Amino acid sequence: MDKLERRDFLKKASAATLAGGAALVAGCASPKQQEAPTVRSTRTYEWKMVTTWPPHFPILGESADMLAQWVEEMSRGRLKIHVYGANELVPAFEGLEAVSQGVAQMCHSASYYWAGKAPASQFFAAVPFGMNAQQMNAWILGGGGLKLWEELYMPFNLVPMPVGNTGFQMGGWFNKEINTVGDLKGLKMRIPGLGGKVIDKAGGSPVLSPGGELYTNLERGVIDATEWVGPYHDYLMGFYKAARYYYYPGWHEPGTVIELFANKNAFEQLPKDLQTIVRTAAARSNVWTLSEFESKNNIYMNKLINEHNVQLRQFPDEVLQTLRKFSQEVVDEVVETDPMSKKVFESFSAFRKNVTGWSQVSEKVYYARISL
Ligand code: CA
Repeated sequence: MDKLERRDFLKKASAATLAGGAALVAGCASPKQQEAPTVRSTRTYEWKMVTTWPPHFPILGESADMLAQWVEEMSRGRLKIHVYGANELVPAFEGLEAVSQGVAQMCHSASYYWAGKAPASQFFAAVPFGMNAQQMNAWILGGGGLKLWEELYMPFNLVPMPVGNTGFQMGGWFNKEINTVGDLKGLKMRIPGLGGKVIDKAGGSPVLSPGGELYTNLERGVIDATEWVGPYHDYLMGFYKAARYYYYPGWHEPGTVIELFANKNAFEQLPKDLQTIVRTAAARSNVWTLSEFESKNNIYMNKLINEHNVQLRQFPDEVLQTLRKFSQEVVDEVVETDPMSKKVFESFSAFRKNVTGWSQVSEKVYYARISL
């Protein structure tokens, strides 16, 4: 802030203080108005929330359960949310339709699962070689992303918001080494979103299956490889019993956003304070989720290596460079065929450029120089 800007800022700040003071004086001058009884709505609402996760699934399902509990506590029971795991009310990947049509009022999921209905939704979950958790939150909450997300979900009669983040993910579980891009050829791998299209370009066969089916599919050889989240959650899923090599980095999901969306009519019918309570609970959950993953990933990575003989492997640079080239092509294709994706990606990439400028003089230098 230069001198002139600072002066301007101070002037505005003191004007705001004065205005606040005036309001206070005015408030004191009319005690009757101040004592007027506040009309409080006592109407209660019972909502159904569907999720993409198995019931009470660690972290993701748990956070949906906690969100419901927080909302009930904050609203003193005026908004009760009943959480349904995948397939309890509707199948894992039918949450968008269910909430759109009012079968449920809310869904807890990840937006790349709706790529078939709204290709641009993928940019609000994860973009290969895209932004990390901190940067995704910054784009969505501070860089105009949320407005575009709302615009995208408007035709579906939905109100979206971020409710969590997985943090940086791992590259996946394989039963053979990946030394060249050629090793991905013919590989049947569970990998969602834009990352799946990149694997397709590399000659593999991407499969989209919900979390609840992954272990069985990998164990029975229905799929050859799978990615899921990171060491903590992957440990809980037991993938180390069905695959030997655990690859990093998770180039396809550098900070995946977990989403919450509500039926627009239902959300707008809630009194303002209940809407705020829902948004506040979602914001708390966003921090809780990321903190759970980040605080436990390294502990569980060590468990995987030391107690279960998992072979940790880094993707060779050549593989990553080729996947990056394919990722660019995949994004170009989506953007060329879908105007909304173009609009969203323009915002995404402009923001990424902006935030990368800052990271060049902050984290990038910091991580490159520190050694523990
Ligand atoms: Ca994943």
